[in-house]
Amino acid sequence: MESTEPKQLSMTSEYNDEFEQPLSGSNHKPEQTGSWFRRIKKGISTSTSEKKETPDGLWTKCPKCKYTCTILEQKDHLFVCPSCRYHHRIGSAEYFEILFDDKEFTELFAGVISIDYLGFNDLKPYRKRLDEAYFKTGLHDSITVGQGKLKQQDLVICCMDFNFIGGSLGSVMGEKIARAADHCRKERIPLMIISKSGGARMMESAFSLMQLPKTLGKLAQLSEARVPYISLCTDPTYGGTTASFAMVGDVNIGEPGAMIGFAGPRVIKETIKKNLPEGFQSSEFVLEHGFLDMIVDRSELRDTIAALLMHFRN
Ligand SMILES: [Zn+2]
Repeated sequence: MESTEPKQLSMTSEYNDEFEQPLSGSNHKPEQTGSWFRRIKKGISTSTSEKKETPDGLWTKCPKCKYTCTILEQKDHLFVCPSCRYHHRIGSAEYFEILFDDKEFTELFAGVISIDYLGFNDLKPYRKRLDEAYFKTGLHDSITVGQGKLKQQDLVICCMDFNFIGGSLGSVMGEKIARAADHCRKERIPLMIISKSGGARMMESAFSLMQLPKTLGKLAQLSEARVPYISLCTDPTYGGTTASFAMVGDVNIGEPGAMIGFAGPRVIKETIKKNLPEGFQSSEFVLEHGFLDMIVDRSELRDTIAALLMHFRN
């Protein structure tokens, strides 16, 4: 709460003011009550690239079974809980590390970046939201395209990052997928898309929705050229991604326990006014209803993709 005293500009005197606030109930004047701790700068301002490596001794708890282990142990298990197989959300860097031989790949189309065509403002201007996302994640957008080898077989992977504006499907994601599909068609390299998205990027409005037919068109051309396309749906795969490329793979794979759907369960429940069945929209439920071909544990993902690529080649 603001003090009625004239504003002190120097930080030191401001802190002193805070410490001199009455701590007991006596002589209590509401307008003078200050908080013990005042946040001067909001949010985390260290960019991912500047962050220090997580200390090996740091402990983490599984949100499902409460199993406690060190970050290092979790990383050794590919960020899957050793006790209950809960799959923690990971980003493109981790997926590339898990899948590509010797963790080596070349990033493609990194120069494609978002433009604020509409001058869009919600809680903050879209331009500012983008700048913050670049700074926080060190990524170019919500999708990264990498080309490398998986068990000596060429593969292009487009992988989303949920921590970049919710992995939202905007014009950059559409363009990168379109370019990746063209590249794969010309070079005859199989394509894999790893979806992890809340859906369309609202700040790009109709431009975001245009990416649905655009990506589907490019994937149809890839299919006509008989180049394989594998879709991996991870937690969460929603909205525009499910409504377009995530569901049209030659093979559609789900990660265990991933939530996959179009609208979320709460919205559906409110619309149909009925209780939803247990496990609704989990990858196990989606598999049972025919939208997925298989569910693959992260520990078996590399072997499974390699076997699929071999199968397609023969
Ligand atoms: Zn667990």
